[in-house]
This record gives sequence, C-alpha cells and structure tokens, in this order.
Amino acid sequence: MTTIAFIGLGNMGNPMAKNLVSAGHTVNGFDLVEANLATAMKNGVTVSSSAADALNGAEVVITMLPAGQHVVSVYSELVPKAAKGTLFIDSSTIDVDSARKAHQLAKDHQMLSVDAPVSGGVGGADAGTLTFMAGGTEQAFAKAGPVLEPMAGRIVHCGEPGSGQAAKICNNMILGISMIAVGEAFALGEKLGLSHQALFDVASTSSGQCWSINTYCPVPGPVPTSPANNGYKPGFAAALMVKDLNLAQQAAQSVGAITPLGAEAAQLYRLFDATGNGGTDFSGIINFLRGGTK
Ligand code: NAD
Repeated sequence: MTTIAFIGLGNMGNPMAKNLVSAGHTVNGFDLVEANLATAMKNGVTVSSSAADALNGAEVVITMLPAGQHVVSVYSELVPKAAKGTLFIDSSTIDVDSARKAHQLAKDHQMLSVDAPVSGGVGGADAGTLTFMAGGTEQAFAKAGPVLEPMAGRIVHCGEPGSGQAAKICNNMILGISMIAVGEAFALGEKLGLSHQALFDVASTSSGQCWSINTYCPVPGPVPTSPANNGYKPGFAAALMVKDLNLAQQAAQSVGAITPLGAEAAQLYRLFDATGNGGTDFSGIINFLRGGTK
C-alpha cells in the first residue's frame, strides 16, 4: 500500500481521499479550511499541519485545488522538497498552460507527473466512479493507474502532459453547448404546443440524442433523476460550467482555434451566473433561455 499526500480536501478532494483510505492507502491530507480537515480526519485521513508536512513518507502527491495558480504554487513549494521519483497527480480542472508548467516543475526535479482531471462530480467522487482523463508519459501513467483506481470508474490516457486538461475542457465545451441546444429546443417545443414527453421520446431516440437530453434532460418528467426534478439543485453548478467554458475559450485563443459556439455558450453561462444563478444546476439555463429566471 502507498503513502499519499492529498492537498485540497474540498467538495471533491474529501470523498476522493476517503476512497483511497478505504482501499488501504495511508493518506496524509492538508487543506486551508479547518472544517475540511475535520471531515478528512473522520474519514481516516492523517491530517497534516501544512502541505510540506503531508509529504512525510509520501510516494505520491495528489492535488485537488480550485485553479491553475493554486496548483503551480503548491507544486513550486512541494516539488523541491519531495523524495526523488515521487509521482505528482493533479486532478483539479485548470488551464492547459498551468498544467504544462506544473509538469515542467516536476520534470526539472526528476519527479513523475500526470494531469488527471475528472468528470462525474461530487456524486462520482463519493461513489468512486469518476472518469479520469490523464496526460503524461507512459511511465508516469503506468504508475498513476493503480493509485487512481479506487476513485475511478474509468481512466483514459489522453496523451502527452496537458492532454488530460485538454480533453476535459473540450468535453465540457460540448456539454455546455449541447445543454443550451436542448434547452432551446424544449423552449421552442413548448411554444409550438409539443409536450415535453413527446419531444423527449422523439429526440432521445433520433438524431438529436445526446447526454444533455438522454441522461440530464433539463425539463421535469422524462428523466426522473435529472436536476430539473429537484428544483435545479446541483448536480453540476452553473458557476463551474462558466469556469470550464472560460478555460476552453482561453485555450482556443492560445492556439488560434475557432470556437464560435463555445464562445456563445460561455457568454450565455456568464450572464446566467451574473444574474444570481451560479449555484443553480447548469441545466437550469433553460429557464434563462425562456426569460424566466431572476
Ligand atoms: P472546493 O473549493 O470545494 O475545494 C478546493 C479546496 O482546495 C478548498 O477546500 C480549498 O480550501 C483548498 N485549497 C486552496 N488552496 C489550497 C492550498 N494552497 N493548500 C491546501 N488547500 C488549498 O472545490 P471542488 O468542488 O472540490 O473542486 C476542486 C477541483 O475539481 C476544481 O478545479 C474543480 O473545477 C474540479 N471539479 C469539480 C467538480 C465538482 O462537481 N465540484 C467536478 C469536476 C471537477
């Protein structure tokens, strides 16, 4: 079994660390927030007094932090202090440039590193069924696989360092755009006198089918487990969709990719967020498209 330093024990990090403990690993955890440390302790995590303290005996460091600057800052502190050959795994969703910077810091100090952002949300983190999208060398990925396994439903090696983040933001750009498309279609269908169930029965089995309609339908009824049946409680909060769509736009600009629908989706979700809906599930944008939210 492995000793793992886990930095960032928030909504995602704490349940992920809990699953590593359940798999028999020793987890040294650190977060800036006392309440998160208390939860971690209840889950069997050994609470550390600082990020550097969490390195004690660690062969693997996992970070689950808000944004690129936090990851680069933690790597800058920990990489020079870690034992040679330590594997660094960053599972935060961050910009590709910061991910590559973090990899470079690790490489400069003879560490192995993988960027491994996730999809599946807090539910997937809790159930240990996250999809990991990994970027890094074959050697680093081979070592990361067994560590990620207790937290994962699926692990995909996407390619070179930074590829995991690239896959994550491309996937979420599809998701943001497709949810708006599905929301517009239902809003139009309503005005044309179509029932939600009729449109769902047709589109979910025809060329309109996609995850946003088949699994996460944004109107109450057709898919009982979708947040539309629960007052649009997240789920996946709109503020996180804004973050991911902004990262996609930042990446598109940095490589000169043309993403007009990604840009429009980012703009619509920013407006949805700015009108007080950041904590609403992202599928609630249908109400905004109808002109019906605060
Ligand atoms: P969160 O804000 O709940 O957790 C982040 C934690 O990092 C916080 O507890 C914060 O105190 C801690 N932190 C910040 N700087 C630190 C430092 N220097 N040292 C130690 N701890 C530090 O966020 P979350 O929902 O757990 O998300 C974490 C990452 O996962 C984000 O990048 C997010 O985009 C991504 N993500 C979230 C979801 C989701 O549904 N919540 C889904 C997929 C991906």
